[in-house]
Amino acid sequence: MNSAELVIVGAGPAGISTALAIIAAMPEARDKILLLEKHFHPRDKPCAGALGARGTNILQKLGVHTSTRAIPIHGFQVTTTAGTSLFHSPETLGRVILRGELDAELADIARQRGIPLAQGVSVSSVREQAGRVLLETSAGVLDSSLVVGADGVGSVVRRSMDLPKAGFKAQVLELTTAPCQRDPPPGVLGFDLSDRRIPGYLWNFPRPAGRYPLRTIGLYSLSPSTSGFLDIRKPPGHLIRLLREHVESQGIKPHGQQALRFAERGYNHVSSQVVGRRMLVGEAAGIDPISGEGIAHAIEFGALAGRFLAKTGLDPAQLPAWTKVLRRSRLGMDLFLCQSLLRAFYGGGRERTEAMMIGSRSLLKAVSLRFAGRYPGPLLLLQAILGSALAAARISKNSTRTRH
Ligand SMILES: Cc1cc2nc3c(=O)[nH]c(=O)nc-3n(C[C@H](O)[C@H](O)[C@H](O)COP(=O)(O)OP(=O)(O)OC[C@H]3O[C@@H](n4cnc5c(N)ncnc54)[C@H](O)[C@@H]3O)c2cc1C
Repeated sequence: MNSAELVIVGAGPAGISTALAIIAAMPEARDKILLLEKHFHPRDKPCAGALGARGTNILQKLGVHTSTRAIPIHGFQVTTTAGTSLFHSPETLGRVILRGELDAELADIARQRGIPLAQGVSVSSVREQAGRVLLETSAGVLDSSLVVGADGVGSVVRRSMDLPKAGFKAQVLELTTAPCQRDPPPGVLGFDLSDRRIPGYLWNFPRPAGRYPLRTIGLYSLSPSTSGFLDIRKPPGHLIRLLREHVESQGIKPHGQQALRFAERGYNHVSSQVVGRRMLVGEAAGIDPISGEGIAHAIEFGALAGRFLAKTGLDPAQLPAWTKVLRRSRLGMDLFLCQSLLRAFYGGGRERTEAMMIGSRSLLKAVSLRFAGRYPGPLLLLQAILGSALAAARISKNSTRTRH
């Protein structure tokens, strides 16, 4: 039986940043870590690839500078039944990357820094026995003192922890298409909330490609989850129809295009992120359920978890503190806010939300700056709150008038 002091399951952005952050603070840990990945990089990861500068800045603090193909992001466009609003910035707010390329480059950097990465090794079960964690893998049984679950949405590590059921799930459909006239302006990410049949939104992003420009068009839809785990195979037929309807209404013929289906896991602030000697990071723990944005969060998760683990000297007895560290961090507070606003955003208050997004330019600016990792100052926050309150008040006044 092979062994490693710390096994990180999953070499996506969360797992790799966890390993990088540990060795940045504790270089001697290099020989104690094992990063496991079921695929071989570059692996295909369904993702629209919008990476906020927040994530890139964290990587840079770890001395990681990536050079994968990218399209700089300069703005956000939000369309609702109340109209369209655009925030454009001369500064770069982030970039659209290809996930296969980014993750492969991160994996290369980890290897160059001496972090052992075993690829093509899939973990099928995890259990604790006599103060050790035993992982059944496709390469045999692995024995470890600590395990970090960075294995994304269908996390095997999470399943082994028997955590409370998720309150909802997100279904995500994605199509790659040619550009069309009604695309948002260059470098702008488009979000369309105008179809109220979708408890979520449609997106339209540029996609870095070879000789010809491409777009990623997708649908993000939330629904209550009755099972504890996200079923990524359940065919959401009506969602495929809605996506096709939308694409065709833009004048794009989706012939030959396959709507690819995936699920996402939203963060639950109440849930513990630790059981025994196992802890969770990245999408295995949960990401922003309102937007479904998770790359920058996964990187932030990894940086925070890596610093935490290095501080404990990889001592399993200190692992229970991880849930509290996460909850009190900027990341935890940010995710908590998203979780708390979720129902107001897509539920009964949807009309008000739409009016606020369109009526308050400061709100859209604040959201864009958050994506870029430049958290809005008190003046912008005040403007955003006042602007949103005014927009919401206008809606209430109009609906009162309509009733009379
Ligand atoms: C269609 C779609 C579009 C998206 N678009 C965006 C976007 O534009 N911007 C954004 O910020 N976020 C987006 N997301 C979300 C984002 O992709 C994820 O939140 C992010 O990848 C989470 O990173 P992670 O490292 O936690 O998990 P992952 O990136 O999923 O990495 C987990 C890794 O673990 C490996 N693994 C899984 N199980 C095992 C196992 N049993 N044994 C060994 N290895 C295992 C996987 O192969 C994978 O490499 C999108 C998601 C979807 C589905």
